[in-house]
Amino acid sequence: MGLLGEAIDDNSFLVGERFFDCISFLGCAPNLLLSPSEGAGYLRIVLLALDEPSLFLSKKVHPVICPACKSSIDNCAAHIVAAKAAVLSCPQCLNATPLQSLNFRKRACFSRTIMQIFPVFEAEANPADWFIDALNQEFDAAFKIAFIQAQTAN
Ligand SMILES: [Zn+2]
Repeated sequence: MGLLGEAIDDNSFLVGERFFDCISFLGCAPNLLLSPSEGAGYLRIVLLALDEPSLFLSKKVHPVICPACKSSIDNCAAHIVAAKAAVLSCPQCLNATPLQSLNFRKRACFSRTIMQIFPVFEAEANPADWFIDALNQEFDAAFKIAFIQAQTAN
């Protein structure tokens, strides 16, 4: 699809020739560095394939709504129970809701497969609809988008 360019290591890649067709940017796009020769903060894509699904949560995550009692749950990370199936335990009614059933409004994801773009401010990189559709078709999957500012650029 042209998203990935030259490999940096096993999981990291420079941007490919169609990167800007796949991903559009808001804000700082003119200042993006495309290769290590342009500076340390160059654009790169990191692919993660984890053994178990993990929760990636934005610092800007909104409260989630318990589907059972409709309570608004702040600080949802404190109520997540990571057992065989990760669930959020509602502090109000104690209902256990699988994480994938909650609406984190694009501020969290629970997945084994993650594609990260560094260094970009949260919500400034947006994949094109056709690109998400192509990924889903290629991998017979249901990729979703979440905006999470990473702590480090790996
Ligand atoms: Zn509840």
